Order: sequence, then structure tokens, then C-alpha cells
Amino acid sequence: MGLLFRGIVWFSVYVLLVLLPLALAMLGDPIAAARPWSLEFAVAGGFIAYAIIAFEFALVSRLRAASEPFGTDSLLQFHAQMGVAGMLFLLLHVLLLLPHAASASMFNPFAGGVAARSGALAFWALLILGVTSAGRSRLRLRYETWQWVHASAALLVGGSALVHILAVGHYASRTALRVILIVYALAFVALLLRYRIIRPLRLARLPWEVVSNTDVGGDTRSLVVRPVDHPGLRFQPGQFVWLATGARPLTAQQHPITIASSAEPDEAHHIELAIKAFGDWSGNVVPQLHAGARVWLDGPYGALTPDRFPGQGFVLIAGGIGITPMLSILRTMRDRDDVRPVVLIYAANRPERMVFRDELTALQSELNLRIVLVYESPPPDWRGEQGLVTTELLRRHLPKQYKRFQYFVCGPAQMMDLLEDELLEVGVPAAQICTERFNMG
Ligand SMILES: Cc1cc2nc3c(=O)[nH]c(=O)nc-3n(C[C@H](O)[C@H](O)[C@H](O)COP(=O)(O)OP(=O)(O)OC[C@H]3O[C@@H](n4cnc5c(N)ncnc54)[C@H](O)[C@@H]3O)c2cc1C
Repeated sequence: MGLLFRGIVWFSVYVLLVLLPLALAMLGDPIAAARPWSLEFAVAGGFIAYAIIAFEFALVSRLRAASEPFGTDSLLQFHAQMGVAGMLFLLLHVLLLLPHAASASMFNPFAGGVAARSGALAFWALLILGVTSAGRSRLRLRYETWQWVHASAALLVGGSALVHILAVGHYASRTALRVILIVYALAFVALLLRYRIIRPLRLARLPWEVVSNTDVGGDTRSLVVRPVDHPGLRFQPGQFVWLATGARPLTAQQHPITIASSAEPDEAHHIELAIKAFGDWSGNVVPQLHAGARVWLDGPYGALTPDRFPGQGFVLIAGGIGITPMLSILRTMRDRDDVRPVVLIYAANRPERMVFRDELTALQSELNLRIVLVYESPPPDWRGEQGLVTTELLRRHLPKQYKRFQYFVCGPAQMMDLLEDELLEVGVPAAQICTERFNMG
């Protein structure tokens, strides 16, 4: 089945699941007492909000079959957008209920019956979820703290929303609807168990060992790992793994890291990961991973790969450590004797922040490759491109046939947002732009 077709099927299933509770409420036998339209709309908003929230986790729970057609980056953005949509439906639910509520105590999770308390709890938990997600950097929350708050608040929202709907009854007194709502909750629990318990246990049986850990400049470590008593990993150039470090996979910290190696395996099935120091884990834990240390790799994931999006030629645009997928793509092209033309636009703050520059320069003699280096703060004697990657810069360097090329863009979120607009502005068809953000959440 083609990726596009699979994407359409998964998206249709998702929309169906989101609308199913509402459809079951609307299509059942009419409920005797007529109610004001605002109350009916409030209930409709509530059903949609519940269904959206129930499937939020499914979007980010590393279900490979479902994520493959879209890519992790797009799914993460969709997860965030649907989170906002869920919140808006819940807000609509609350606002339309206000005129019918007995008093402002509808917001008090300690007052009233089960239905009122659980509804208020879901409301406040969703508010916490929204505020901590939208304002994570302003609140200066550590990623791990935020992740913990996010997961706990999400559990609380889903759980109390279910109790609320079941306790209110009315439409939810119908068996079919009750069953569907409970099945959604059970599906969520099953995915959580798979994610937290089953997947780590499976990883434990497939350990990897650090072969070398080298400083390659620009605050970056090159970590080479080898599979221990298993055949390793088959991946496509540009894909990433979740690298778990710690005593055991059940408790290990996991971080998404792109495979920098060629997808054509060497005999020992070594894999290279290039990791730049950004925070606690990459700055303190990674440098301490000595040869022989045990790690686990969950993957591969991601769709930023020419194996899925082939083209007559490629334009690779990397910002900083966003060079890792491009390195994998170029190394793989070399090993496959791929002679298709490639333009690499590689932006970094200063020359010393750029990693693998010598290897990239050498690759120009083995591939049909042209490299454009861009420094934000160049040294005084630099005669090349400087500043940001702008539409003018793109126009100067894109090849003649640029509308037929495939584009891969990877780097920090701000750069990606700019580039997506700029590429469209210079006339690159949206379908030929594939992106990956290195910031999650
Ligand atoms: C698909 C993908 C591929 C990546 N590939 C590379 C790569 O090849 N090389 C590289 O150096 N970096 C890569 N990154 C970025 C890398 O994952 C983060 O730099 C790293 O997780 C930072 O962790 P920290 O605790 O050191 O820093 P922190 O300061 O805690 O986090 C910095 C940022 O990294 C992200 N992050 C932190 N922890 C996690 C986590 N457990 N799960 C998900 N995101 C997290 C968050 O956006 C956070 O704001 C990639 C990111 C993504 C999404």
C-alpha cells in the first residue's frame, strides 16, 4: 500500500474516531425532553473534546505503522494543533454551559456531585496542560519536568472527562455510547502500557555498546555504537532513533538522535550518532559514555529520507547540528554510487561551530555535490554567504531545475518556520519540502 494511500486511510480513521461519540449521541433514538440549543451544542463540544484528548497520546506514542506516512515532525505538529482544538472545544462546552449552571461552583472540583467535580477537575487539568505547553520556555520548565507535568495532566483530563460524561448520563446512558467511550479509555491505557513497559522490555533484549566517544568540535560528540549479539538496525538515510542511556531501558532517559552513518551497513553494523551539548543530558551524560557502556536504540523513525521522497536531485538545508541527517544522506549516496545532483546549504553561527566540514568537503570529489556554507557571525576574512538563509540566498544558489528537486530541511524550529515560507515563496512545490525540527514539545 502506497504511503499516500496509507496516510489517507489513517487520517480518515482518526477523523471517524473523533466524530464517532458525537455521531452515536445524535443518531440514537431521540431523548424525550427537548433542551435548549446551547445545551445541545455544549454537549457536542464536550464529546468532540473528549475524543480528541483520548487520541492525543496515540499521535506521539511511536506507533510506526501510523507515523510512517506522515513523519514524526508533522505528527508532533498535528498533536499540538489538535491539543489546541481539543481545548477550544472544551472551552466552547464550558461557555455554553455557563447560562445553565447553578453557580460559579461549576469550576470548583471540591463542590457538587461526581459529575460536577470531575468536570471541574478536567477543566483545570486541561488549563494546566495548555499553559505549560504554550509557555514552557517562558516558565523555564526543564524538558523532563514539563514532560512529567504534561503526562500527568493529560491523564487527569482524560480520566476525569470520562467520569464526568458517564456521571452526567443523558446521551451517555446509551449502552453503545458508553461502550465506545470506555473503549477509547482502554485503548489509551493499552498504548501507555506498550509505550512504558512492553517497548522498554523489548529494547532490553537488544542492547548496544559504545565503541568510541569522540569530541568532533562545536560542542559535539561523535558516538559510535555496535549491536551486542543481534543484527543491529536497518534504517533509511536521514532517520532517527531514540537513544536510551541509564541503568536499564525501563528507567533510562530517552532522546531523539539522528543516525549520521550511511544506511549501507559496515560489517560490524556500527552506527554513528553526533550529539551536540544543549542541556543536562547531552552536555553531561553523553560525554561520560565511555567505550563499553551499554545503551539502547529504539527505531528507526522519521520520514526525512530520499528513500521515501526520491527526486531528480536534492537540496539539503541544515542549520547547526541539523547536519546529521544530511551527513547520513550524503554518506549513503556515496556508498550507493548515486550520482544525482545535490546542493547542500549548511548554516552555522561561526566556522568553529560547524561539524564534519572536512568530510563534507571531501565528499564533493565523490558526489555530484555543491556546498554553500553560511555563517551568521563570520570571521572578518570570510568572502562567502553570511547572515540568515534568505530567499535571496536561495535564489542565488538553487539549481536551474530547482522545482524538480526534492528538499530536506533540518535545524532549530525558528529556522525551519522561516525556511518553509521562503521555499514556498521562491516557488518550490510544498509536496517537495520535507522538514524535521530538532525541538520537541
Ligand atoms: C527527530 C530529532 C532528531 C534529533 N537529532 C539530533 C542529532 O542528531 N544530534 C543532536 O545533537 N540533537 C538531535 N536532536 C535534538 C536532541 O534530541 C536534543 O538536543 C536533546 O534531547 C537535548 O536533551 P538535553 O537534556 O541535553 O537538553 P535540554 O536542555 O533538556 O533540552 C533541549 C531541547 O531538546 C528537546 N528534548 C530534550 N529532552 C528530550 C527528550 N527526552 N525527548 C525529546 N526531546 C527532548 C526539547 O525540545 C528541549 O527543549 C534531535 C531532535 C529530534 C526531535
